[in-house]
Amino acid sequence: MMLANSVLIIDDDPTQVAIMKAYFMSLSVAEVKGTSNAAEALSFINKHNQNIDLIVSDLQMPEMDGVEFLRHLSNLRYAGKIAIISGVKSDILEHAARLAKMHSLNFIGQVSKPVTKSALDIVFLKVEHSKLSPKRQDDYFICQNDFSKAMRNDEIEPYYQPKIDVKTGRVIGAEALVRWHKPDVGFVSPEVLIKFAENNGRIEELTFHLFNKTIKSVVEFLQIEPDQVFATNLSPVMAKNLALPDQLLGRIRAHGLKPENFSFEVTENNVLNLDVTTLEVLSRLRILEFDVAIDDFGTGSSNIQTLRDFPYSELKIDRAFVSNATSNVFSEETVRAAVSLSHERGMKIVAEGVEDIETLQFIRNQGIEYAQGYLFSKALSHDDYIDFIKTNLTGFDLEAMLSAA
Ligand code: C2E
Ligand code: CA
Ligand code: CA
Repeated sequence: MMLANSVLIIDDDPTQVAIMKAYFMSLSVAEVKGTSNAAEALSFINKHNQNIDLIVSDLQMPEMDGVEFLRHLSNLRYAGKIAIISGVKSDILEHAARLAKMHSLNFIGQVSKPVTKSALDIVFLKVEHSKLSPKRQDDYFICQNDFSKAMRNDEIEPYYQPKIDVKTGRVIGAEALVRWHKPDVGFVSPEVLIKFAENNGRIEELTFHLFNKTIKSVVEFLQIEPDQVFATNLSPVMAKNLALPDQLLGRIRAHGLKPENFSFEVTENNVLNLDVTTLEVLSRLRILEFDVAIDDFGTGSSNIQTLRDFPYSELKIDRAFVSNATSNVFSEETVRAAVSLSHERGMKIVAEGVEDIETLQFIRNQGIEYAQGYLFSKALSHDDYIDFIKTNLTGFDLEAMLSAA
């Protein structure tokens, strides 16, 4: 069965419009129109009422909310299908869905933001939840005692994953990633560890532990190649502490280092969006001349708005998008949208999860500055990172890599 011949997408965030356009185009929908303006959408519907099969609309728009929009649609006797997309809480979505039905609109489903391909597939292709690949569950359960013991025994340390300049091939620094080697179980998943620390009030302790170790390593790394920047991941919880920027600065100064050799990666989430304290903390970091990167772009609620509101100097495109950007129109479009809007704002871009030459070629063509991924290296221990920079002092020969492929 054919989903639709003609689709109209309405969302005040142009990134979301671009992503959904690409999605419907990948389903071979003949006509896909997108607009970020609800009033414009209504006048379009007024003219082409009979010819639109499906409308996909955001619930929250500055000039007209989704609820009002539904009422107008009903007044226009729009008879095609309608689906609602929104970043608001799911109970409000449910309510709007009921409202659409009360207006006798042909309501087919709701998707919460940030939209993902699988969420869209559920609504538009009626793919069952169970058919979608389940999220890998790492079921190792951490308790407070385990963690305290690990800290005491010094089992937790940062590993360093190199970042490469995709024009010159040079190593520009690395991202510090937590590694916990628990003697009786092996490596514990970083995601599980971070979640544990965030939910149990131990994230600051863990982050400072890692940061102190990173600083000590960096002193040695810079002796080999002084022109490097080392990134530390900051949990959004920590970005609400006004004292944080000065604490971080204090630590690096104590080791005779400068902010220009450090950056911080902060993951997007809904809470981050609206928070003035976070804005102040990130701005302070920038004023102190640290780099601040928005992490996991494409997966969180990261959108054009957050890029405007927050003082980021760098954007990291999540590996989920990068790794299949060459094979999936949906991901490719997300990457394109991210690139054009960060370049407009003078931000540098890092592509995460670069695993093969085609992806390297693709990100170079897109004008992305830096790459991180298994194509170059996984995260390395202190000693291995030292070997890595020594062997790659003159940089990777990217032309040779690309022409060999
Ligand atoms: P992230 O910040 O997005 O880090 C990148 C992740 O991608 C790392 O996973 C890295 O090992 C992995 N990766 C790098 N290149 C490739 C590639 O080419 N292919 C694939 N498939 N994966 C690649 P890791 O180390 O498991 O960390 C997972 C997440 O845990 C991180 O994602 C970050 O969100 C969090 N995390 C790690 N260390 C810290 C930390 O010290 N503090 C905080 N707050 N979060 C951390
Ligand atoms: Ca990161
Ligand atoms: Ca990521």
